[in-house]
Amino acid sequence: MGEKKVRVLLVDDSTYIRTVLGSIIEEAGFEVTGEAADGEEAIQKYKELKPDLVLMDVIMEPMNGVEATKAILDNDPAARILMVTVLEDKEIVMDLIKKGAKGCITKPFSKEEIAEKVNEIMGNKG
Ligand SMILES: [Mg+2]
Repeated sequence: MGEKKVRVLLVDDSTYIRTVLGSIIEEAGFEVTGEAADGEEAIQKYKELKPDLVLMDVIMEPMNGVEATKAILDNDPAARILMVTVLEDKEIVMDLIKKGAKGCITKPFSKEEIAEKVNEIMGNKG
């Protein structure tokens, strides 16, 4: 129908997780607009690509997802960032949600969870 696909930036230090997330995103009818492997790269790609949504890992080196999320939101308070992380990061994630992150998906995630959450954040499109 020529409707614009939701453009997603994938941020994770694991190539494997980026690949899995990428398949899920595409199968769900969204578009992978770019990938980043750490926080610094995420900030740069966000500025460059202006994605509709970011899937953000927390534990990454040298710059983690907490710092990257804060930096992106400082620059663009309307940024949609969904944390994808392990349960142990819960307090950090709650703090980021207070600061403007849109939510959190816990690893291991399912295809359904990712698709549902992305649609929810994007206003139940599709
Ligand atoms: Mg990680």
